[in-house]
Amino acid sequence: MPGITNGALGVSVELPRPAPARGRLVDRPLLGADGQTREKRVLLAAPRGYCAGVDRAVIAVEKALDHFGSPVYVRKQIVHNVHVVSELEKRGAIFVDDVNEVPEGSHLVFSAHGVSPAVVAAAASRDLQAIDATCPLVTKVHREASRFAGQNKHILLIGHAGHEEVEGTMGHAPEQTTLVTSPEHADLVEVPDSVTAGEVGLVWISQTTLSVDETMETVRRLRERFPQLQDPPSDDICYATQNRQVAIKKVAKDAELVIVVGSANSSNSVRLVEVALEHGAKAAFRVDYASEIQQEWLDGVGSVGVTSGASVPEVLVDEVLADLADAGFGTVQVVKTAEEDLMFSLPKELRSDDRALGGRRSE
Ligand code: SF4
Repeated sequence: MPGITNGALGVSVELPRPAPARGRLVDRPLLGADGQTREKRVLLAAPRGYCAGVDRAVIAVEKALDHFGSPVYVRKQIVHNVHVVSELEKRGAIFVDDVNEVPEGSHLVFSAHGVSPAVVAAAASRDLQAIDATCPLVTKVHREASRFAGQNKHILLIGHAGHEEVEGTMGHAPEQTTLVTSPEHADLVEVPDSVTAGEVGLVWISQTTLSVDETMETVRRLRERFPQLQDPPSDDICYATQNRQVAIKKVAKDAELVIVVGSANSSNSVRLVEVALEHGAKAAFRVDYASEIQQEWLDGVGSVGVTSGASVPEVLVDEVLADLADAGFGTVQVVKTAEEDLMFSLPKELRSDDRALGGRRSE
């Protein structure tokens, strides 16, 4: 009977069995050049899925609903995953784009991606009871931005235009921040004359969910143009983003196909597809649900890498494994590159039971 084994760190672990197979995909024999049947297997990346910041944010909404009753309003998607948002909506959460949509005096949760001081002020002006579920690792970047601005430095923020985290971080030093969106943009971006004249320092910071390699390339190209560019004291790309990229790099070397579970607006999920393709996967696709897996993706494939973004509950990965088992990929080898045990406490507005929270680890 096919099972799940732990490959990379040499420790065998029993994992929950995948959900029952549903028969949508077909097990077509895979023949080698010698005409013999080849084994088909899944390489399951670890770490994957929920990070500590996402777990905290989702539980914050759940506890707010428990404490205050429905509805609880949430500014933007609490985390970038359609399944998580839909499940919370069923429980009574109402997601809004703007604080002005929230009735005065209501409870409002700020998402894990963080908000600018202007949003906090707008919520206060409507007498909203704010619950701040901003990931502490995003808050750390906010504090860096405020501190650098106070030190007479101009900030080059590496990130994606329009992403909520970027909007929130820029809002902490709007006059002193310039967005750099890619390595190519680094060759073109302009800085204020005061920087060029040496009157104002120059420092870079970044969004937490970028590709590590691409960000380093952006910094390299910025420094070619601005040798005075200072580094932040520590990484802004968070542990969860980095760990999931390291794991998928190892998987991608041996995977003919990689499936990333995650939503289209999830920056770290989209990056996992890119990283897989850059590190050996012949094909890589992102899916929200197992039902999006196409039979033709699997034809002629012997090894399928599977991972998930930091906002993806494990139940969605279990469904992918169940469908892959239907297609003959019942042997699952875990490729583990790191252990994760980071825990964040609840937002202070919900700390009545002061329970420490941690990421629901994939292993
Ligand atoms: Fe926090 Fe990183 Fe998770 Fe974003 S991906 S919520 S920054 S731990």
